[in-house]
Amino acid sequence: MVTLAQPRYIAAHGRDVEVKALVKSRAEPGLWLEEVPVPAVGPDDVLIRVLRTGICGTDLHIFAWDDWARQNIPVPLVVGHEFVGEISALGAEVADLALGEIVSGEGHLVCGRCRNCMAGRRVQCSRTASVGVNRAGAFAEYISIPSGNVWRHSDGVDLDVAAIFDPLGNAVHTALTFPVLGEDVLVTGAGPIGIMAALVARHAGARFVVVTDPSGYRRRLAGSVGLTLAIDPGETPLSEAMRELGMREGFDVGFEMSGKPSALRSMLAAMCHGAKIAMLGLPSEQFAIDWGHLVTNMITLKGIYGREMFETWYWMSVLVNAGLDVSPVITHRFACEEYESAFSVVQAAECGKVVLSWADR
Ligand code: NAD
Ligand code: ZN
Repeated sequence: MVTLAQPRYIAAHGRDVEVKALVKSRAEPGLWLEEVPVPAVGPDDVLIRVLRTGICGTDLHIFAWDDWARQNIPVPLVVGHEFVGEISALGAEVADLALGEIVSGEGHLVCGRCRNCMAGRRVQCSRTASVGVNRAGAFAEYISIPSGNVWRHSDGVDLDVAAIFDPLGNAVHTALTFPVLGEDVLVTGAGPIGIMAALVARHAGARFVVVTDPSGYRRRLAGSVGLTLAIDPGETPLSEAMRELGMREGFDVGFEMSGKPSALRSMLAAMCHGAKIAMLGLPSEQFAIDWGHLVTNMITLKGIYGREMFETWYWMSVLVNAGLDVSPVITHRFACEEYESAFSVVQAAECGKVVLSWADR
């Protein structure tokens, strides 16, 4: 039996108090910092006082109000899904978490009843709901999520790194889908998730980790974290990089992290027979690839979505504890009130991960 503690804010200011949140409150480009009620806490929910949040490509789509956002986002909606915070209140049925614990949340709420959920393969749930997309998100002083989605961090975790466990999870999920020990790994797309996946492959014992990206900023960022090579796909053919490294038969494992057709095509051409490709990059439309090449070279191509619940989260925590340092990927930090500047930086893509601060501990 657990008591429902008063969230600090409510205890200090009374029940009717409203809290700051970034809201998609109008069906037009933009986001607005508004006052909203403290989210409701059901019997199995956890109320989290948000400390830091990360901005993701999805948030940019919502900000810009593009076709995808128009079709998928209910208005009004508190947005955002990458966060860390401290537990502020527990629903009456939550028994295994404690006030004050530092936690993040898995942003995909699974149905629990579909075939895959029933089999324990929650990442493959056919009816997920998403924090900050279909239900109230994390760009707020408080978020309420089901206790089953809460991930408790290790003691002493860096709050900025904890804030980006969601995309780090995409990176870990991709990077550890196929064995990389001793393998040569090609990563197309040196965005924050591509660079983190490359770092995980390195940490997991890959021999060469080569990344490609047309953006000079992103190649420099990739270069600064100690990967084997960061090349411009428009300037240096992968065959030349392979020659330089003394590779004979192509890359063993590929991570497609850009969603761009030309990236997947050039990757396919540079892989060895029997290679494995994990594809996280989300193409915006259909495109053709050389399927004959994929078949005759016996290449496996696997789509990657979200994070394994909760094996990926476990790996993230232990890898970070064991010295995996993804902090160089965080290049900008802003107070939540400066969200417009933060979104412009992400929009311009001259950045790694951008973190917004909502509160100090
Ligand atoms: P990002 O947009 O910051 O990074 C993508 C990078 O790819 C950019 O640096 C861009 O310059 C680079 N790029 C563009 N064309 C390229 C080409 N031809 N070759 C190589 N690189 C190229 O995105 P991110 O936040 O790092 O996310 C990576 C991808 O993963 C995006 O496509 C995103 O939509 C997708 N994503 C998927 C999931 C999932 O669950 N499947 C989750 C999060 C993000
Ligand atoms: Zn399900």
